[in-house]
Amino acid sequence: MTNPVFSIILTVVKVLVTGVAGFIGSHLAERLLDEGNEVIGIDNFLTGKRENIEHLLSRPSFTFIEHDVNDPYDYPDGISEIYHLASAASPVFYTKYAIETLLTGSLGTYQMLELARKTRARFLFTSTSEIYGDPEEHPQREEYWGNVNPIGERSMYDESKRFGEALVMAFHRKYGMDTKIARIFNTYGPRMRDDDGRVIPNFIMQALRDEPLTVYGDGTQTRSFCYISDMVDGIIKLMRSDYHLPVNLGNPEEYRIIDVAKIILKVTGREEKIEYRPLPPDDPKKRRPDISRAKEVLGWEPKVPFEKGLKETIEWFRERMSQ
Ligand code: NAD
Ligand code: UDP
Repeated sequence: MTNPVFSIILTVVKVLVTGVAGFIGSHLAERLLDEGNEVIGIDNFLTGKRENIEHLLSRPSFTFIEHDVNDPYDYPDGISEIYHLASAASPVFYTKYAIETLLTGSLGTYQMLELARKTRARFLFTSTSEIYGDPEEHPQREEYWGNVNPIGERSMYDESKRFGEALVMAFHRKYGMDTKIARIFNTYGPRMRDDDGRVIPNFIMQALRDEPLTVYGDGTQTRSFCYISDMVDGIIKLMRSDYHLPVNLGNPEEYRIIDVAKIILKVTGREEKIEYRPLPPDDPKKRRPDISRAKEVLGWEPKVPFEKGLKETIEWFRERMSQ
């Protein structure tokens, strides 16, 4: 019979998480620590916040290094998994930090892949549904190559992630490295920034402040929203799988943006005040993941219903407002 203590020791690994002070990175690091792993978190606070990881800093298995992943660094020995999340992720911030975003997706990803090659670590890259652009296939399957404007207003993000995916596959093919590509669809939850312009924090903050909800365009464009705990499950399952091609991670329940506004007004108990604003250029008209691959390869699918996830998120924003 296997000694349980011995088997626990065997599964504890030293993990590097880039973008650890961001929304997804901070939840991922917390989960990995809760599982008993040792976590080294990297962030340069481009869009992340110290408060997202403040509660982790006192944990002995957590080490934080303030560092730009694009720059060389003498990382600690013994890293066996690298989750590479560092990148601006909201349209407002990747527009503001366009060059940083392109460099982090390319040079930063290269630096992390080189580290993974040297340390023989498993490597996971967080790509995005944005690589499908304004999709002409619906829902989006991993085989779809996308409809992307290479010089458009979103190109700094889309192309940085497309380049990142190509680089990951090049390292995998050339060196036989154990790499994974998560194509993440819209994810939401506590610790999103209230000023990062994404639709869920925008609508929640507007509702809580009793301001009109700003719907861009006519609100008929669609998105599919995954709650953070489900996303963290999917990312970790993918890292631990033997699968090397891209995997869509997201919730296939699709909503029109106008309906998202109405649901948030209902859950916050506010009267309907909506202000229509122009649709930003190249804003995808529809987005919904086909998650058959994630179901088959990882046995993963999201569990948290939209209204439940929204309630948790609204509660978190409400508490922060009252502090
Ligand atoms: P976020 O902005 O909250 O977190 C990103 C973190 O990366 C921030 O803490 C930022 O400071 C850090 N960072 C950026 N450039 C860096 C650099 N050069 N060196 C070190 N740190 C750097 O964004 P998020 O929503 O948590 O997204 C995390 C990852 O998931 C990103 O790669 C993003 O592209 C991807 N993703 C997110 C979503 C989503 O809906 N949240 C959807 C698709 C893909
Ligand atoms: N959106 C909106 N009002 C807002 C913020 C966003 O109507 O205050 C729309 C945006 O135009 C897009 C969708 O909501 O169609 C999702 O936007 P977000 O920035 O969250 O992410 P995207 O999926 O576009 O990267």
